[in-house]
Amino acid sequence: MLPTTSREWHLLARPKGWPKPEDFALREVEIPELGPGQILVRNLFLSVDPAMRGRMNDVKSYTPPFKLNEPMEGGAVGRVVASEADGFAEGDHVLHWLGWREYTVLDARGATRVDPDAAPLSAYLGVLGMTGLTAWAGLLDVASFKPGDAVFVSGAAGAVGNQVGQIARLKGASRVIGSAGSAEKVKLLVEEYGFDAAFNYKDGPVAEQLAKAAPDGIDVYFDNVGGEHLEAAIGALHTHGRVAMCGAIAQYNATEPTPAPRNLALSIGKRLRLQGFIVIDHFGKRDEFFAEVGGWLRDGKLKYRETFVEGIEHNLDALLGMLRGENTGKMVVALPE
Ligand code: NDP
Repeated sequence: MLPTTSREWHLLARPKGWPKPEDFALREVEIPELGPGQILVRNLFLSVDPAMRGRMNDVKSYTPPFKLNEPMEGGAVGRVVASEADGFAEGDHVLHWLGWREYTVLDARGATRVDPDAAPLSAYLGVLGMTGLTAWAGLLDVASFKPGDAVFVSGAAGAVGNQVGQIARLKGASRVIGSAGSAEKVKLLVEEYGFDAAFNYKDGPVAEQLAKAAPDGIDVYFDNVGGEHLEAAIGALHTHGRVAMCGAIAQYNATEPTPAPRNLALSIGKRLRLQGFIVIDHFGKRDEFFAEVGGWLRDGKLKYRETFVEGIEHNLDALLGMLRGENTGKMVVALPE
């Protein structure tokens, strides 16, 4: 018997500063009948991403803001439970972008089939998915990484960050440095992911800690954090250094503009290249990414972790937890079958 209702998260009000529970509601809704070309998906894993915080604001961006009183969106992997679309059958597993709900009805052309035998399903949201591609394309294409570069990455124990550091290591970096928000994460970076040095940005000024971890300076900075981290990196970068501007999580809940970086003018004399990017511009290289990163995973050369939160009623806890740093690696909500 097919389900008739589904629970989904709606945004009720646009948060100011940190999101509050009253800004959201988990609502039970009727599942619409399938139209031609559509599939009904039972979601099994929901992606929890920093960008979701940005989509709660009513500002023009590369993706439209979430609409109030409508279901929120995000990456999801699930199982097809009914299909009116050619090429998709009950039991197929798919990746799509209409998550934050138990069941999704969508046009099949918005879904990509994924193979549960090739990798655990949650990996298609992280290490082999959107965050993995962000790390791979951001480092290799945007930051123009080359062997011998010394690389610094912030948010280094997170989904994107740990993969950036490991890819730099695998591709012949001279030194890989990471920053993260706890002693356990710092230990993990060095002992499990093979970073040469790591520090806890909460222990003291980032510039001082970076100077100790990278006494000879850096060639590439992969920025997940912005603010003080970016300022420290600009100070440490060599002439012709490159910055992949990936994210600025330090300011996603800020109510005032951040003062740093105060040393941006240094980028002129140092001939720095600071380049923002959005992963969707790199979707054309997904096959190449999948082949290379999939190979490293198969060979045990690339490691990854995921933090699972169980149950759709805990989506918000997962989002706030991720923004507070409670995740190690990709933050995922797992829904029971
Ligand atoms: P993560 O898995 O890295 O989770 C977020 C992490 O950010 C937390 O675990 C926390 O770790 C850290 N953090 C939170 N607040 C701060 C702060 N004030 N200062 C420093 N670190 C902080 O998330 P993702 O890997 O999914 O995303 C990482 C970054 O990449 C984000 O900025 C995101 O917006 C960006 N991104 C950009 C994309 C693009 O296309 N440009 C695509 C995907 C992601 P800790 O314990 O270390 O503080």
